[in-house]
Amino acid sequence: MAPDIDPMPQSYQYDVLIIGSGAAGLTVALNLPEHLKIAVISKADISSGATLWAQGGIAAVLDNEDSIENHIKDTLDAGAGLCHEDSVRFTVEHAKESIEWLIDSGVKFTRDHNAELHLTREGGHSHRRIIHAADATGHAVSTTLAEQAAARKNIQLLSNRVAVDLITNRKLALPGNRCVGAYILNLDNNHVELFRARFTVIATGGASKAYRYTTNPDGASGDGIAMAWRAGCRVANMEFNQFHPTCLYHPHAKSFLITEAVRGEGGHLLLPDGSRFMDRFDSRAELAPRDIVARAIDHEMKRLGADHLYLDISHKPADFIKHHFPTIYEKCLGFGIDITRDPIPVVPAAHYTCGGIVTDERARSDINQLYVVGEAAFTGLHGANRMASNSLLECLVYGRAAAADIARREADIPPAPEAPEWDESQVRDSDEDVVISHNWDELRHFMWDYVGIVRTTKRLQRAKHRVDLLASEIGEFYSNYRVSNDLLELRNLVTVADLIICSALQRKESRGLHYTLDYPGLLPEVKDTVLVPTTYRTLTP
Ligand SMILES: Cc1cc2nc3c(=O)[nH]c(=O)nc-3n(C[C@H](O)[C@H](O)[C@H](O)COP(=O)(O)OP(=O)(O)OC[C@H]3O[C@@H](n4cnc5c(N)ncnc54)[C@H](O)[C@@H]3O)c2cc1C
Repeated sequence: MAPDIDPMPQSYQYDVLIIGSGAAGLTVALNLPEHLKIAVISKADISSGATLWAQGGIAAVLDNEDSIENHIKDTLDAGAGLCHEDSVRFTVEHAKESIEWLIDSGVKFTRDHNAELHLTREGGHSHRRIIHAADATGHAVSTTLAEQAAARKNIQLLSNRVAVDLITNRKLALPGNRCVGAYILNLDNNHVELFRARFTVIATGGASKAYRYTTNPDGASGDGIAMAWRAGCRVANMEFNQFHPTCLYHPHAKSFLITEAVRGEGGHLLLPDGSRFMDRFDSRAELAPRDIVARAIDHEMKRLGADHLYLDISHKPADFIKHHFPTIYEKCLGFGIDITRDPIPVVPAAHYTCGGIVTDERARSDINQLYVVGEAAFTGLHGANRMASNSLLECLVYGRAAAADIARREADIPPAPEAPEWDESQVRDSDEDVVISHNWDELRHFMWDYVGIVRTTKRLQRAKHRVDLLASEIGEFYSNYRVSNDLLELRNLVTVADLIICSALQRKESRGLHYTLDYPGLLPEVKDTVLVPTTYRTLTP
């Protein structure tokens, strides 16, 4: 009888493994030389990350009235003193060429009647500088880049693949500080496969699923941040979680965001009695930066005991509304809200992770041959508060920088060393998945209640206590049971929740998005919160 042969190949080799197929991951892939063999993996469909959902647009200086210095100043102002000016300048100066690259790649941005690119304005921006594809910019970017990548012979797009953990020299007990790939759970056959690569790129997006209410799609569980942390990378400024002020409030509308551009185009925020209130909080009223608007809404909701407030654009002509906001118009209409006549019920929700894995201007992390791009990265661009539409820009600029750096170095980097296949001999199938769903809900509830828009030290300590208990329970579960996507996401969420809480506890002031009743003022010294894993100290040069 022929011996049993496992029909599933479980080991692959690439030049570049890109974990994540949003704007950041695909930008890297498409800017790499075509002789490199590249795998781009996504834990769901190729177009499943936050990129697809982005509505507003991408910031870039394209108007003669505007200037690089204006964009830099607005970004620095929004970042509340914590932006790295070199990173801001680098991003803003490379914006125009990144947009041109997108246009050359086939993205159809909205144009005015003179066929000029239409620029809109968003909170925090002193000028019109948001390039957009109506109110579905992310959809246009994501689908166009995915099409381009699918047409490239050297790029393999692999959906339903979940990265479990990075493989490093340290883990393999080899000398040197190098990333050599990752273990990937193939959801189509439930095998964990070995992907070795000369370069690995984390492009896994943010961690907003740590919160009960979020604008982010499923999957934003901070996997890349948690994996890099476990592997020994430093993580910075995780306390700065941006809450989008206006998520549609409706029992059947899951995570639907009402873009900032609605306020940019003249929308008013209203209390339940129909009166405006934003000018009581900021002279810029509805055009104040997100954190101020989100806190104002949170304050008014708590003061009035209201479930939600309203965003109203119905005073604008119906044609204007339908032309500028077709997606929002249709979506709201589906819920019985005609935004050309009715105000839109809204609540704040976790939206963007400003912190992330520490990287430099070439998107390099603390581990050699490991790059990090997009929302998972900490580049210093956003400081204590991201300005609207700078995040897709960061994906493009740093994605291109990472690709250029890999292209420059690749001839000198040898193939990844041998690594063992995933060992499942010590684990069994879980018979208690309820533990996962229960812990998942508990985590996201206490993060919302204790680590949300307004914080206190006591609440953060409560959250820390709970996250420690959950971490040990989930750690035990992970050691004993076969991995699944839900278990992996929960394990990563607990890690990022812990990073958020520890960072928030360390910051003894209220700055940008981090607002605590115990330290309402600003400290004179401005510094990042950099968390250093114990494994970082063991990384050898
Ligand atoms: C509703 C909404 C509207 C927004 N609007 C704007 C806007 O107008 N302008 C702007 O600049 N920004 C906007 N943002 C933010 C912006 O969309 C994101 O910051 C950006 O798209 C992040 O891109 P990314 O490539 O880093 O990650 P994502 O686009 O989130 O992609 C992450 C990828 O990683 C994959 N992945 C994650 N974990 C794993 C794993 N373990 N294994 C394998 N694959 C994994 C996912 O499947 C996905 O392919 C918005 C965000 C949301 C949610």
